[in-house]
Amino acid sequence: MADYKLKLKALLHDPVDKMLNLKNHEEIAEKIFHFLFTETPHISEAKLADSIASALSRIIVAPKLEKKENEDVQKNFQEQSSVNLEEAYFIDIFSEKIHDIEVPQNHKDVEDLFKKLESLSFTNQDEKAKIIFLFLWRFLPDIFPWINKHPADSRAPNHSIYDHLVQASAVVSSIENNKIPAFLLFTISPVQEFISKARKTSDLWAGSYMLSYLIYKCIEVVMEKLGPDNVIFPNLLGQPLVDRWLYEKFKNTSIANLNDHNFQKWLQEWQKFESKRNEQLEGKLTIANFPNRFLAIIPYDNSLAKEVENKFKNNLEELAGKVSEKLIETLKNSGNSYSEQDLQNINQNFKDQIKSHLLNYFQCYWVVLPWVSKIKINYPPNDALEDYKELISDQNELYRTVQTIVNHPYYKPANVGSAYSLLLELTEKLLGARKSIRNVLGENYYESRGEKCHLCGEFEVLDFDWEKLIKDNTGLLKKGEKLCGVCMTKRLFPEIIKDKLGLQTAIKFPSTSEMASIGEKRTLKTKDKQDFEKIFNTFKSNLKNNYQFELPETISVPALKNDPLYKIDGQYLMEETYRPEYFEREYGIKLKEDDFKEIIEFLKEKNISPSKYYAILQMDGDNMGKWLKGEFNPKIKDTIHKKVVDALISYSEEKDKKELEELLCYKHPTSPSIHQAFSRKLSQFALEKVRKIVEYHHYGKLIYAGGDDILAFLPIEEVLDCAYDLQEEFKKILSPKASMSAGILIVHHKYPLYLALNEVRNAEKMAKLTFGKDAFCIRIISHSGEIRDSGGKWALISFLNDLICKFKNKHIPSGFPNEFAEVYEKEGIEDTEILRTELKRIYLRKQVKDKEYINEILKNFDSYEFDLKYFVNLLLISRFIARESKV
Ligand SMILES: [Zn+2]
Repeated sequence: MADYKLKLKALLHDPVDKMLNLKNHEEIAEKIFHFLFTETPHISEAKLADSIASALSRIIVAPKLEKKENEDVQKNFQEQSSVNLEEAYFIDIFSEKIHDIEVPQNHKDVEDLFKKLESLSFTNQDEKAKIIFLFLWRFLPDIFPWINKHPADSRAPNHSIYDHLVQASAVVSSIENNKIPAFLLFTISPVQEFISKARKTSDLWAGSYMLSYLIYKCIEVVMEKLGPDNVIFPNLLGQPLVDRWLYEKFKNTSIANLNDHNFQKWLQEWQKFESKRNEQLEGKLTIANFPNRFLAIIPYDNSLAKEVENKFKNNLEELAGKVSEKLIETLKNSGNSYSEQDLQNINQNFKDQIKSHLLNYFQCYWVVLPWVSKIKINYPPNDALEDYKELISDQNELYRTVQTIVNHPYYKPANVGSAYSLLLELTEKLLGARKSIRNVLGENYYESRGEKCHLCGEFEVLDFDWEKLIKDNTGLLKKGEKLCGVCMTKRLFPEIIKDKLGLQTAIKFPSTSEMASIGEKRTLKTKDKQDFEKIFNTFKSNLKNNYQFELPETISVPALKNDPLYKIDGQYLMEETYRPEYFEREYGIKLKEDDFKEIIEFLKEKNISPSKYYAILQMDGDNMGKWLKGEFNPKIKDTIHKKVVDALISYSEEKDKKELEELLCYKHPTSPSIHQAFSRKLSQFALEKVRKIVEYHHYGKLIYAGGDDILAFLPIEEVLDCAYDLQEEFKKILSPKASMSAGILIVHHKYPLYLALNEVRNAEKMAKLTFGKDAFCIRIISHSGEIRDSGGKWALISFLNDLICKFKNKHIPSGFPNEFAEVYEKEGIEDTEILRTELKRIYLRKQVKDKEYINEILKNFDSYEFDLKYFVNLLLISRFIARESKV
């Protein structure tokens, strides 16, 4: 385990409010540290960590001045380029906006916190260091919100003091005991392939949450060994699973008594969670938001990576055990008599089968890249530059930038921190190479000859009495459905994770039929809903009393939590559900027409008829790889205080000046601060915004939100606006230069889910390829199987919404899109001018309330920059949505 006292020294080597008293900051740091421990924080390792951390995130250069002759000039330059509190500002590296620097009211605020920490009593000094470190890592930004706009260095105010301090603490754990710092990049697979194999919406959630949870468990190994600060990507600060881990560490120590408002509020939330009274936290905790990879700074050694790999496998094994236990439970309850011995044998047999499926299916890959080849004083950057030159290139801007920096006399001796961006790219490249060599499969399972799994079609189905399982576990399996170990784990995962996380409510998902009915539910009168509820309950008790059958429990979307129909699945508002064949096929019970009579009459009388279509929305950020590599980073001169830039230029001469000006115009290489800020913004978007927008602003249900990756179910009435709002928010949080693309699928509620998921993925690809990113693509698959695509840039959404409204209100003729499509498709007219004339002619030939609107349509026709078939489809699709939507 990491030496936490050392981590704490690195973390506190600068005062968190450094800018308040720049001159005496070292003494102040020491005083602060003495509240906790008696020794000095500025020991050699902490100092080295500070200098590496500084090089990691900061580019400051000085003119090349000969030492002796120019002592005065040197001094003048120092003076002219120093930035005091009054002149200081803070640059947001993504939006490139300049903000005021933020500071506490006075230094006492900071001292007070450390005095409170001093007063806590710990029995063990190591424990004390660890708990206080974890506390500061997690709560400094909450307790001192100004810390995020308090620069670590006023000359390069592009990252906060907090970022600098936690980088120093991460580095110190990687060089402790003369170790070499290294990157660990770890990833698991398959991802899309696994997630998309879903028959039910809950399979889909279970697949994505399972991956997210598994990678979290891998990250946990690094947190336990080195501390959460050593994980660079994804952002862990404020992650619900990480907070839960912290709560477990804090709850029985004296830190729980710390008198701080922010901390106590947090603590109480988790106490409420522990006693199963915190629905909100449960909601947050059950969003899949870990990506399938992580990057950490570790001491160079493969043992930690191997430990993570083992943990990954153990977790799969443990899951196999849980799944097997659940299956045994149902056998026990099935009424058949099994001896204890029988059950034990069966259990072992299940466990082995499931385990072998899981371990064969899931793979993990990792690389560990040392930052230097062998231990040398100050960790020079030369190895990194050489490797990069050999494996990638010495002809690109990044290489030249880093080379210029490390060769600059200001940086003598330069350290490896300056080469962070090169090392990062090398690590990515190595992982790519590693992944191209597939892991050897343990058993030749592809050749097995038994019945294949009904869901994935890949593994053999488990050797199991499937009939019994279906009878006893209503809703778990469809009639006749048989699964393999991987898919069975996915199916049971919601139950398993409920136990594991100690959740109060079972994890349930609205069905696709429910998603289709949201519009109807929103617009039905409360009285009708209440009446329906009564009739439906009678129907349910009839099933129970006369057929010994209980309908599976279902729920609606979160926004309808208080609706009388919240627990009645939308398909029961659809007349065609009430057929004996349906119930026999779905649940294996034989009902009579008479059983349905009352309900059908009610639905008819009240004219209840929900749409049969719902929407799936899949979105992700454009060019995320480029963002991560720093291709959108600002120029170096825009990350340095203007006063410093001016001084640099005025004090350098000739060749020196030219070189300097060149450097200032290069892009800022990626640093851990930029990397962390990026991942923090992504997680802020995913954790705080996406769910709210999808579930509360637009009546949807979020499946996953891992950074920029989003998958959600929505009613057709809301999907366009929801997609639009999400990309707006993304831009707002990340940068005006950032954008997202969306695939939107509108599909019949009975369309096979795994096919629908493929289709929405294709639509998302089209948004990027056909419509050129920063765009949406909408695909409609009608019940008859006809597929239509359309799309464009985001601004087009408002025209689409307009059309939908006009169609709905019959202000424009409903027949014209079809007639126009016929002209376009059947008559094969491709001449734009003729088409334009036709469009106008067809529109105006009809009885039209809004004649003028043709001009708006023509305007959009003229400016439509893609293949006109998509414009034709746009008209058809908006008419379709207008017909199906209820709101
Ligand atoms: Zn399967």
